[in-house]
Amino acid sequence: MLQSKLFSKTRFEAPKDEVSKNAESLIRAGFIHKDMAGVYSYLPLGLRVIKNIEKVVREEMNKILGQEIELSSLQEKTVWEKTGRWDDKIVDNWFKTKLKNGSELGLAYTHEAALAEIMKEYISSYRDLPTYPYQFQTKFRNELRAKSGLFRGREFLMKDMYSFSATEADLNSFYENAIVAYKNVFQRIGLGSMTYLTVASGGTFGTKYSHEFQTLTSAGEDLIYIHKEKNIAINKEVLNDETLAELGVSMSELVEEKSVEVGNIYKLGTFYSLPLGLNFKDEKGEVKPVIMGSYGIGISRLMGTIAEVNGRENFMLWPEEISPFMVHLIGISNGDESVFKEINDIYNELQKSNITVLFDDRDARAGEKFRDADLIGIPHQIVVSKKTIESKGVEYLNRISSIKENLTLEKVIIILKSK
Ligand code: ATP
Ligand code: MG
Repeated sequence: MLQSKLFSKTRFEAPKDEVSKNAESLIRAGFIHKDMAGVYSYLPLGLRVIKNIEKVVREEMNKILGQEIELSSLQEKTVWEKTGRWDDKIVDNWFKTKLKNGSELGLAYTHEAALAEIMKEYISSYRDLPTYPYQFQTKFRNELRAKSGLFRGREFLMKDMYSFSATEADLNSFYENAIVAYKNVFQRIGLGSMTYLTVASGGTFGTKYSHEFQTLTSAGEDLIYIHKEKNIAINKEVLNDETLAELGVSMSELVEEKSVEVGNIYKLGTFYSLPLGLNFKDEKGEVKPVIMGSYGIGISRLMGTIAEVNGRENFMLWPEEISPFMVHLIGISNGDESVFKEINDIYNELQKSNITVLFDDRDARAGEKFRDADLIGIPHQIVVSKKTIESKGVEYLNRISSIKENLTLEKVIIILKSK
């Protein structure tokens, strides 16, 4: 992509009304636009990051036999009433709307009830089970406070997977598979070492605990207690003598950290299937409620988390798998057309090698280009100028290791292709 054609521009003054670091740096780099508190639009660079995160998540969900779907955002009141969750006193973050005829609808804040209702048409026998549909979708939540940028949107992107099983044993083994898949996701997007599988409250679903994936950051809204050697973390909400005893740890061994919840997995059991009548016939012909689980990852919250964790003043660094481009080609031609032509040839060469590249072809000063490149945060950089062309090479900077080398283009292509 040619940077001169990119409509989003970097900006150096911080947006006045933005108080969170993650949104501020993403707005300044031109990745997102703030429409109103808790509502952001994704611009070309930001959307490429979102799509890359989705690609990693999709690959890991498919590995555990997920089947991708996309459900509607408008939801029926009656389905939620049956599960006791339409009432604003029970679910306090609903956005609701009305049809012309006056009947009420909800804007999806989650999808377990809607999907359970749909699955009644497709599940009738044990032979139809297990099945694991998932989607990437916009969720709407009328959050009271939306001051943490992409951490807490009123409209945000989530990956939600639901498991439908005939037996507790299948639910339990799928739950373990989901934990492995989630760990792979966080590893691949560069958050592995700072993300903890955390014991948390089971909420209203009748199970004692659920599990969250919590990434350490001082900007997070959660407090977790970590046992480093045992790699166990406990959310403050379930930190009590009983939980400590069950996990075999003592309070003095734990360290308190602030964190953000990037994922949450629940065993729902029959919480939704019983009231909605989602049943199946087992081998003996006996009718039983389907056993469910739900598995969420905050896709847009993840982009915010990486921005929060990797960003510094005027500096960003995207992990390779999710960076909007693999390499940032910075051309310094100073108006010399023959130099520009050489740089353009390098741009074409990189593209031919299937390397995604943002080419700073703008007629701007070198200092401005480097400043923007730091803000945008692409991990690899190639600088081409009259000087490098004369020495028959390019200047290659790996921003992850901070190593800068003068190499031939062929050599740099080999390095980038190996990533
Ligand atoms: P939280 O405890 O942070 O309010 P939650 O427990 O209500 O989140 P879930 O319903 O489990 O969240 O949703 C699954 C995932 O979606 C969460 O783990 C989180 O990463 C993400 N998420 C939830 N609410 C928001 C939000 N308002 N903005 C952005 N992402 C969110
Ligand atoms: Mg949660």
